[in-house]
Formats: sequence, structure tokens, C-alpha cells
Amino acid sequence: MEKVLIVGAGFMGSGIAQVSAQAGYRVHLMDIHLAITDKALKDIRWSLEKLAAKGLLKEPSEKVLARISPEKDLSSASEVDWVIEAAFEAEELKRGIFQELERICKPETPLATNTSSIPITRLAENLRRPERVLGLHFFGPVPLMGLVEVVKGEKTAPEIFERGVAFIQSLGKTPVRVQRDIPGFVMNRIFSAALREAVDLVDQGIVSPEDVDVGMRLGYGWNAGPFEIADNAGLDTCARVGKTMRTLGAGHLAPISNLIERMVAEGRLGRKTGKGFYRYSPEGKRLSWEEKKNK
Ligand code: NAD
Repeated sequence: MEKVLIVGAGFMGSGIAQVSAQAGYRVHLMDIHLAITDKALKDIRWSLEKLAAKGLLKEPSEKVLARISPEKDLSSASEVDWVIEAAFEAEELKRGIFQELERICKPETPLATNTSSIPITRLAENLRRPERVLGLHFFGPVPLMGLVEVVKGEKTAPEIFERGVAFIQSLGKTPVRVQRDIPGFVMNRIFSAALREAVDLVDQGIVSPEDVDVGMRLGYGWNAGPFEIADNAGLDTCARVGKTMRTLGAGHLAPISNLIERMVAEGRLGRKTGKGFYRYSPEGKRLSWEEKKNK
């Protein structure tokens, strides 16, 4: 059984761990505190049970869960066939993780990052073997979203890129090949352009977030509006993506207003803290207008 190490057990890391275990991989799920991996395993169990109830799971959820081991350091990196890094969107942090991984991993193990915006080439810059680093950019919630961007850094070996495509297919996801490494890759640049305009319009008091989302659903056939997507992704992550875009010469894709940064400073991170552009019940259910009035 092939082994995968996921570094970071937050929203994305736990989802990637789940779909990898569902596909039959042995998964090591690492974060800095076991309390975080414990929560991730609870979330995965909840998600698997929902899939099972809908008849979408091929085997009992306990069997899938048994393939995932929580880890509090990177020592398992020496025995795995794949590494996917999904820690906070912070360049220095990710660079540090890759340097440590390079020391521990077998030389042939591909090192993937789930970064939303930082060029792969920058993360691989100081490594001895940058040719084995690539982007595998999943979309959240990972168990439900079918797309993954496979991103080629300047030095990514063609063979590693193709192994990335095959790995994503083995998870039952659809890969989109991004042949050149630019900040935000392809999908996040297009989404960021929409979110940028939406945030600026809301901050100028021209429209409410709800009306933008309704408009994009009904007017353009989106399944979710930009503010619903941003709340699900986490506004702290959106703020970090905006910062990377501004720093790396793609500032035209980041909002002019600092509305998201102000919300983050107030602890309004989106679904994960129960409030962002919308409010959520403790179980994560979005509150309707009626329920909101009574809060
Ligand atoms: P998150 O805040 O939910 O989780 C990040 C996790 O990283 C936390 O649990 C944190 O404890 C952990 N972490 C921090 N330092 C670490 C270290 N040294 N070693 C191991 N773990 C560490 O964030 P997220 O939304 O899961 O995002 C993770 C990555 O995925 C980011 O790069 C983000 O840009 C990218 N991404 C996010 C989305 C999204 O919709 N949120 C979509 C695609 C890609």
C-alpha cells in the first residue's frame, strides 16, 4: 500500500487525508499539536459518515479511518511515497517545512505543496532537489470538489509532473495542468479577480454580500457566490493570498479595500469561527435571515 504524508491537518489537510484514505493510501496526517490532528480525525469521521449515509462510500468508514495515523512531527516522511504540504499560507513557514522534508525523505519522493498562491519555484529555491517539487492545488471542501491544479515549477521534472497528474487521477479527481508557475496559478487568479471586485463593491456600500452571492448564483450559474466561497475557504487564508498577490506583482488581483483584513482582526474568519460574511451555528450550518435576527 502506498503511503502519503500530509503536513498540516487544517481545513485542506484533513480533506486531502480523507480522500487519500478513501482511495486506499496509507495516510500519515501531521500537525504541530495532537489536539489539531484529533479534531481533524473527528471532522473526517463526520464527513465519512455523511458520505456513507448517501451511499457514496465504497467501504465502512471505520476501515477508511483506520488508514489514517495522526503524527506530531515529520519523522514518518522517511517512509512515504508522497508528501503533500498543507500548512498555513506563509512562505517562510513552507520553505522551512520543505527544507526539513528534504533532509528526511527518500530522494525519489515527490514533494507537493497545496499553496493557493505562492509560486512553486520560490518554495523549491533553496532545495538540493527542486526537480521533485510540484504544486497540487486542491479545492475545498476537498471530499466534495473534483478539481486539482497540478502546477509545474520552473525546475519540476516532467516525470514528477506526470506522476502528480496520475496521483490526482488515482484519488478520483480531475487534474488541470498548469504548465507555468505564476502567483495564484490559474483558478485562484480568476476567482481572486471576482472576489476583489465583490469586496470593493461591498466595502463602498454599493451592495450587500448576500446580494452579490445571489446575483452570481442566479445571474451566472455559480454554485456558490464569492463571499460563500471566501467564508468556506477562511478569510485568514484569503487575506494571506491577497498579501502574496500584492507582494509578487499580481496586486491587481487583490482587493483595494482592507475589509477582509479588518474582519480577520476582529476574529471573523468565516465558517471556522462561526462568523465571516455570514453567521453559522455551532454545527457549521449557515444561519438564515430569521435565525440571524434572533441572535
Ligand atoms: P488551516 O488554517 O485550516 O490549516 C493550516 C494548518 O497548518 C493548521 O492546522 C496549522 O496548525 C498547520 N501548521 C502550521 N504550521 C505547521 C507546521 N510547521 N507543520 C505542520 N502543520 C503546521 O488552513 P487551510 O485552509 O487548510 O490551508 C492550508 C493550505 O492550503 C494553505 O497553503 C492554503 O493557501 C491552501 N489552500 C487553501 C484552500 C482553502 O479553501 N482554505 C484552498 C486551496 C488551497
